Amino acid sequence: HQPMLEVKDLRVSFDVREGEVQAVRGVDFHVNSGEVLGIVGESGCGKTVTAQTLMRLIPSPPSRIKSGSIRFLGEEILHKSEKEMQQLRGSKMGMIFQDPMTSLNPTLTVGRQITENLMKHLKMNTAQAKTRAIEMLKLVGIPGAETRINQYPHEFSGGMRQRVMIAIALACNPALLIADEPTTALDVTIQAQILEVLKELRGRLNTSIILITHNLGIVAGLCDRVVVMYGGQIVETGTVREIFSHPKHPYTEGLLKSLPRLDTSKSEPLIPIHGTPPDLVHPPAGCAFAPRCGYAMRICQRLDPALIDCGGTQAARCWLNHSKAQEAKA
Ligand code: SF4
Repeated sequence: HQPMLEVKDLRVSFDVREGEVQAVRGVDFHVNSGEVLGIVGESGCGKTVTAQTLMRLIPSPPSRIKSGSIRFLGEEILHKSEKEMQQLRGSKMGMIFQDPMTSLNPTLTVGRQITENLMKHLKMNTAQAKTRAIEMLKLVGIPGAETRINQYPHEFSGGMRQRVMIAIALACNPALLIADEPTTALDVTIQAQILEVLKELRGRLNTSIILITHNLGIVAGLCDRVVVMYGGQIVETGTVREIFSHPKHPYTEGLLKSLPRLDTSKSEPLIPIHGTPPDLVHPPAGCAFAPRCGYAMRICQRLDPALIDCGGTQAARCWLNHSKAQEAKA
């Protein structure tokens, strides 16, 4: 069956004073219906630009979609008009961001912000929309939903505001929820609570979710599959189990080693990945991770490896796997 979202050879650039940043350099992935996909990487890896492109929210100019295709529910996103996109964003595609204050309207009660969408996209009347709004606030765990729908965003704490965002995003029953660092601005306890809300909702609603995060740890509890991005490319992809039990790319391995261990009593020292991300105005000819990679070989400086199958559903972009694949063939 067809995936609900299919991204093929996506390339996105934007202009800075120094030249053209090749922020997304040929990215392919898909999301099946009801599935949760994590897109992981450090800042500047292209994950947020990818997410914004899916929603057609990248400012152009200075950004440009150079090539590729994004098929969502059988339709090409890149061919849609802004008007069609607005329609889609409020209804079939929901989104939540790191800072709810920038996406919530401070001058409208949270109730209004939910009911407006319901009346516009699902053609509900005022009473129906209000009932649904209260239901949604309850669903995301906001106590006293009946009175709180009459309050303004500033009357909510950070964690409660993020719950409101989730309620707004899910009210119209979107097929896809895109969550970009939804817990990064929150403290650890509240982070865990918001992740619990998402986990619980994914069980109840059949919404597919794309979770964008710099924290591979967050992916473990919530996602089915993972895409690891580095330097504007996908460097590894696979199921959560595959990625966590046998990472095939040195960058993924580095991300895993830098995670705080919760399962051992002795806290092992965290090993950060040293070095800085590549300059995407002048992308390297070879592997983008080479300057930071402990396994780098001569070929890595010269030629960029392709993403290669590593068994199961796992694939990685690394010469180490290419030589293993050749050995296996020989
Ligand atoms: Fe390291 Fe070479 Fe693999 Fe790149 S291709 S991750 S430099 S071993």
